[in-house]
Amino acid sequence: MRTFVAIEIPQDVKKVLRAEQDRLRELPALRDQRQVLRWTNPDNLHLTLRFLGETETGPRSRLQSGLADIAARHAPFRLALTHLGCFRSWTNLRVLWVGIRSEREALQALQADVESVAQRAGFAPERNSFSPHITLARTVRNAPRPALRATSEQLRRYAEEDLFQSGTGWSVGELHFIRSVLGRGGAQYSNLATCALSNRA
Ligand code: ATP
Ligand code: MG
Repeated sequence: MRTFVAIEIPQDVKKVLRAEQDRLRELPALRDQRQVLRWTNPDNLHLTLRFLGETETGPRSRLQSGLADIAARHAPFRLALTHLGCFRSWTNLRVLWVGIRSEREALQALQADVESVAQRAGFAPERNSFSPHITLARTVRNAPRPALRATSEQLRRYAEEDLFQSGTGWSVGELHFIRSVLGRGGAQYSNLATCALSNRA
């Protein structure tokens, strides 16, 4: 079973992100180059804390109970959207994302605990350092080079000016253990467990 741990995005923030996707799709270079980007279904927008990939029953249930334990030790915190960014770079575009700010220390601490729970459950350490983001779109494999270049260049210019309003934030009160089923129409997510951040101290 393919799984990951994530923070869900409330409907009103998803609306802001969906509007951003719509605006981006209408940029001249993107309007003409529809074969370059694959957009995240707005219902699926989320903030990944830890991607596990294929999981077996044993490690999965150990992880799930570990998540409940650590969630109980964390207090709710606030997050907010910042700016448009990308992996790997604007000249080698793979993932187009929206960055996260505000109580990043709380987010980092939570993610670090998720990572240690994952390792104790038997998963190999995550090699990449945590870089919190919400994926808006991914580049299509083997997209035509000139179209990819035109799209990336347009996005780079747009990203320089694009900042989300300071009001676009939300309170995180739980984390989710999610199942992902890949399919032709994109990934289908279903919630395996919800763990409340219940430390009110
Ligand atoms: P699709 O693969 O169809 O584009 P998806 O990426 O949304 O859909 P998954 O591949 O199951 O679905 O990934 C679930 C989440 O985990 C996504 O947020 C994805 O960006 C993240 N993720 C996937 N693979 C990795 C990886 N190797 N390292 C870190 N995060 C990953
Ligand atoms: Mg994927």
